[in-house]
Amino acid sequence: MPRRPKPPFARALRTARACVCPNCAQGPLFAGWLKLLPACPVCRLTYYPESGYYVGAMYLNFIASALVSAVLYAAALPIHRLSQAPITTQIIVWVSIGILVCLSLMRFAYSFWISVDFWLTPWEPGVEHPLG
Ligand SMILES: [Zn+2]
Repeated sequence: MPRRPKPPFARALRTARACVCPNCAQGPLFAGWLKLLPACPVCRLTYYPESGYYVGAMYLNFIASALVSAVLYAAALPIHRLSQAPITTQIIVWVSIGILVCLSLMRFAYSFWISVDFWLTPWEPGVEHPLG
C-alpha cells in the first residue's frame, strides 16, 4: 500500500491550534472542552489509533503546565500581599492555579500530539494507525 504524502508542518500546527481533525481540518477533536471524540465526524479519521495513544500528550501537558505555572509564580513574586500570606493559603492558591492551567492546556496538548503524529505518520480515515 502506498504511503500517504506528508502534509505541510504549518498545516499540522494550524490544526493543532484550532483543535480540529489533522486530516480534513474541519471536524472537531472535542465534544465540549475536554471530551475527545472517538473519530472525526467529517472524514471518520480515528482519534484513538492505539491503546495508550495519549500518554505522551499527558506528559506534554504536565511539562507545559509546570512551565506556565512556574512563570506565573515568578511573575506573582513581587505582589507583596500574596507572598506575605500564610503558607497554607499560598499552597491552596498555587495548587488551584496549577490545576486550572493544566485543564486549560489539556485540549491543546492532545490536539498538538495527534496533529504532529499525523504529520509524522499519516493514516487513512477508517483504518488503524500504520504503526499501531
Ligand atoms: Zn476529519
